[in-house]
Amino acid sequence: MRVLVLGAGFGGLELTTRLSDEFGDEIEVVLIDQADSFVFGFSKLDVMFGRIVADAVRHPYRYLVKPGVRFVQSTIRAINPAARSVETDAGHFDGDFLVVALGADLDPGATPGLVEGGHEFYTVEGAFAARELLSAFDGGRVIVGVTSTPFKCPPAPSETVLLLHDYLVDRGLRERSQISLVMPLPVPIPPSPAASSALLEVFAQRDIGWYPNQLVRELDPSANVARFADGNEMPYELFLGVPTHRVPAVVAESGMTVNGWIPVNPLTLETSYPGVFAVGDVTSVGTPKAGVFSERQASVAAERIVSLIRGAPATSEYDGRGLCYLEFGHDEVARVEVTFLSGQPPIGNYDAPSETLFVEKAGFGAERIQRWFDRAWG
Ligand SMILES: Cc1cc2nc3c(=O)[nH]c(=O)nc-3n(C[C@H](O)[C@H](O)[C@H](O)COP(=O)(O)OP(=O)(O)OC[C@H]3O[C@@H](n4cnc5c(N)ncnc54)[C@H](O)[C@@H]3O)c2cc1C
Repeated sequence: MRVLVLGAGFGGLELTTRLSDEFGDEIEVVLIDQADSFVFGFSKLDVMFGRIVADAVRHPYRYLVKPGVRFVQSTIRAINPAARSVETDAGHFDGDFLVVALGADLDPGATPGLVEGGHEFYTVEGAFAARELLSAFDGGRVIVGVTSTPFKCPPAPSETVLLLHDYLVDRGLRERSQISLVMPLPVPIPPSPAASSALLEVFAQRDIGWYPNQLVRELDPSANVARFADGNEMPYELFLGVPTHRVPAVVAESGMTVNGWIPVNPLTLETSYPGVFAVGDVTSVGTPKAGVFSERQASVAAERIVSLIRGAPATSEYDGRGLCYLEFGHDEVARVEVTFLSGQPPIGNYDAPSETLFVEKAGFGAERIQRWFDRAWG
């Protein structure tokens, strides 16, 4: 019995861990990823703002040594969902079950002028390079702007402007800088009115410009101007952009997508292909694109695969819950817990920013590294 897991991000790591815990070396789990290490999304902001060095946030897959699991570092070139097989640079693999957890790819080139006149900070490379860029920045107008929907971790642009504020204060540059946040959403975190009003309050207190219901459509690098979807313009000295998201090309070419993403049964994470599951950002399951949702979907997919292998009734169902830590700057973190149920408005709980939650967030990352890699972080 072999399970092929495509992608070793939040979803793939959780799924692999669950299967190994359950079966040990009774079954074979082949986990394939092109990268050599895992990086949390939130670590990108930590590196960008100089809170930690890049090497400290890379978790190399060579440490992923679990019973029954084989990690293959290779690029997946073709997926055949009907045959539950893939072609990779390391050869052909097939499985009794296939789980697609390949996330969302980022395409800065899709926004005219972004590559030439701005900087994306959503890829690992882009965020790490932004650290140098920020350290050379001498003050001026900064725009943090979203260029298309959907985008990963909808709170991240709000966190970015708050961390940027602190960063510029620490460097003595805040008074000669302006910070503007351009977002396609009406409020910073629509499922949590309490979190949204707390964010809008601190944006006002810290003189951060809030531009809702807007997308940045293009940059004009010669004029240093960002153009919005409604035709308005905003000048900048530094543009930090959230680029276009799409499924990896290999997923698009597999024929599994509908309207750009893989449709799944929202309760079971099954695709329309027998024995093939998809979890996380690569799907259109109906929750935001964030690691905590990918992880919970992966645990449901894992439990269903366990039941199918054991010949037991599969009862586990996805509940749409996710818990998100929100950087507020000033070394404080807030917590938002949201449940997305199909056909119903999302329900959210909000815990105000505190230093205690700052510590709890660090524990959240450390706990996962311990579980997925069987080693301490740091
Ligand atoms: C700045 C920022 C902050 C964030 N903060 C948070 C946060 O605080 N909390 C949170 O929950 N989420 C956060 N996120 C979002 C989170 O990082 C993603 O939503 C999450 O990683 C998605 O998990 P996934 O398993 O679906 O995909 P991913 O984690 O993206 O994993 C996909 C994997 O597939 C691999 N892959 C893709 N194509 C191929 C191929 N052709 N061949 C081989 N391998 C391939 C990739 O290398 C990758 O490792 C943040 C994101 C950003 C950018």
